[in-house]
Amino acid sequence: AETWDTVPLAPPDSIFQLTAAYKADPFPQKVNLGVGAYRDDDNKPWVLPVVKKANEFLLQDPNVDHEYLPILGLPEYTTAAAKLILGPESPALRETRAVSVQTISGTGANHLGALFLSRFYTWDGPKQVYLSNPTWINHFQIFRNVGIEPLTYPYYDPKTIGLDYEGFLDSLRTASPRSVFLLHACAHNPTGVDPTKEQWEKIADIVLERKHYVFFDCAYQGFASGDLDNDAWAVRYFVERGISLLVCQSFAKNAGLYGERVGALHVVAPTKQAADRVRSQLAVLQRSEISNPPAYGARVIALILNDASLFEQWKEDIKTMSGRIIAMRKELHRLLSEELKTPGNWDHIINQIGMFSFTGVNATQSKALTEKAHIYLTTNGRISMAGLNTKNIRYFAENLDKVVR
Ligand code: PMP
Repeated sequence: AETWDTVPLAPPDSIFQLTAAYKADPFPQKVNLGVGAYRDDDNKPWVLPVVKKANEFLLQDPNVDHEYLPILGLPEYTTAAAKLILGPESPALRETRAVSVQTISGTGANHLGALFLSRFYTWDGPKQVYLSNPTWINHFQIFRNVGIEPLTYPYYDPKTIGLDYEGFLDSLRTASPRSVFLLHACAHNPTGVDPTKEQWEKIADIVLERKHYVFFDCAYQGFASGDLDNDAWAVRYFVERGISLLVCQSFAKNAGLYGERVGALHVVAPTKQAADRVRSQLAVLQRSEISNPPAYGARVIALILNDASLFEQWKEDIKTMSGRIIAMRKELHRLLSEELKTPGNWDHIINQIGMFSFTGVNATQSKALTEKAHIYLTTNGRISMAGLNTKNIRYFAENLDKVVR
């Protein structure tokens, strides 16, 4: 046999396939609702004005060189990033028991967090993680890659197009004690459905009772509600309650730094001594994985987080992005429920949060949208709100109306 004869051909990534089909389509009114990146009202990528300013600073800074960063990352970046997600008043920071490592964006944070758990969590039984059903599809592969078997817990209820709260609580209650649960900190991908604060409180109660470990994935802080503190609420609340947890953080969406791969893993340990031991092992893992994290994006974010006027500008830029997305939600809701009187209830469009929305359209309707109207979306009915703008939203609403009638 030839070398690699036994390698099976893997299916292409479904989102990548969708984008390729959209690009190849010559239809002028085509719409891409698969994209997981922010687009402005002209359907163009948006470089945040604050990032442009930070770029200029860096270009002029004579101290910027191309040396290696420390293994755990740029200290002024990781320190500021920890404050941003945990809150400046966090007991974990005050008691110096949080470990922060710079990672290859949110994906790298998920990977390093999973790898660390695989090696060092005291597993009572087989290595398993509970993921929400559905979740960001990459979670499955990330955990399998490090020998942790993904299981799922009920999350989305197609009947209500909302949270399956009882199902979720039930699996928290019935999972064996000290299970690992992955929770989306805000703006759940792919559904856009988040628990309310009261629901988070109950979730925290059961997590504490059952001594579960929480693996927070936070890829959309600020991007969801437009408010950085609001979107970090669940993480900070869980830390205050004394729940054992880690947080994966990404600046891809909220700073529009998709390609720079700037993220962090924060492990909140019970004591400073535990944190020191965890940090030492994370450094060993990081060394063998990437040696040193990339410098540029971390420098941009460090500048923004550590300079009061840049930070204010960033908050405005975040409001621009989240505001446009929220405006699109309102307009789509208005078109469907008031103007077109599309059958069904469309309140979920405005109740859901963040970049994505589960519309509730089924696979057949989704295919019809693509085939008849050149509107590209995943067959689970998820749309990226960032793909909608003032020029195409009516076209989308009218065609959505047609396929659900
Ligand atoms: N987690 C979730 C839930 C996400 O949606 C994403 C981005 N699609 C990520 C993590 C990681 O993204 P990145 O590696 O670009 O930061």
